Amino acid sequence: MSRILVTGGAGYIGSHTVHLLIQSGYDPVVADNLSRGHRHNVDAKRLRVLDLADTDGLEQLMRSEGVQAVIHFAAFMAVGESVREPELYFSNNVGGSLSLFTAMQRAGVNRLVFSSTAAYYGNPERVPIPEDAPAAPVSPYGESKVIVEKILRWLDQYRGLRGISLRYFNASGADPEAGLGEEHDPETHLIPLLLRAVATGQPITIFGNDYATPDGTCIRDYIHVSDLAGAHIVALESLLAGGPSGAFNVGTGKGQSVLAVLRAVEEVTGRKVPHTIGPRRAGDPPSLVADSTKLRRTLGWEPRYTEIRDIVATAWEFQRKNRAS
Ligand code: UDP
Repeated sequence: MSRILVTGGAGYIGSHTVHLLIQSGYDPVVADNLSRGHRHNVDAKRLRVLDLADTDGLEQLMRSEGVQAVIHFAAFMAVGESVREPELYFSNNVGGSLSLFTAMQRAGVNRLVFSSTAAYYGNPERVPIPEDAPAAPVSPYGESKVIVEKILRWLDQYRGLRGISLRYFNASGADPEAGLGEEHDPETHLIPLLLRAVATGQPITIFGNDYATPDGTCIRDYIHVSDLAGAHIVALESLLAGGPSGAFNVGTGKGQSVLAVLRAVEEVTGRKVPHTIGPRRAGDPPSLVADSTKLRRTLGWEPRYTEIRDIVATAWEFQRKNRAS
């Protein structure tokens, strides 16, 4: 049973991945400083409250636990916050990653799956976006991920560190049976905010309806968090089998407009979503859709959730269960 270190395993995507790792026969140990993650997302016996800046602590943990590979989620992920506090994003996301890579080097661990992002591409020239589109981030958050991907390419060349970067599109949905879902504070993501508007009656603001898209609202590729988790498992398996470093998009390849997601929420909940139309949000590209052919062909990954309605239904069930408990 391979021992896997998961940094940021108490967060949204991390906790779903830890759950799937256990189901797939792995034995994960989580390092999380709980600055943004939640203690209740991880079984206490697997959780080590540890900061990425603690290089010695990470090295010791990997040695004592006999870690064979690392899945590295721990990072800040709010685009708006990164614009207001770029230093925080570079020190936590880049500095924290470097500390982890140093600890891995010292402990002799040389397999890594890394959380990257569609924000890598900025405002892409072509949609669906292939992996060889240029890195052109438009926020410090996106840049922090591009820098780490670049560091990984050098460590592949000179340190023998094999790393797979997964560029996530819009992570969404939940695994209510596992008690896991999206709980950001403050919440900025579309689906939980639409569900909250339904539950509270407080209108959500749609950020612009004058984009050059069929209904004027932005188009995104919503990928279910359990399918994202599955991408980490296939990436990990490839690395453990001696496969090479690389970067892969993770999305369904299907784009949904903000209004289409709103309609899906109305269908799932059977209620109207109170909403108003506001101005555009700075930095929002009109359309981001993944070309994830490479992940499908190379690693044999397939998403199970391809309908936005089904994704929304899992998020709705999680919110209802959470409020009830
Ligand atoms: N969005 C919106 N109102 C909100 C939150 C988001 O209209 O209160 C839109 C946002 O402009 C984008 C889409 O929903 O077009 C998805 O935004 P989210 O923040 O969920 O993810 P992002 O695409 O920024 O990673």
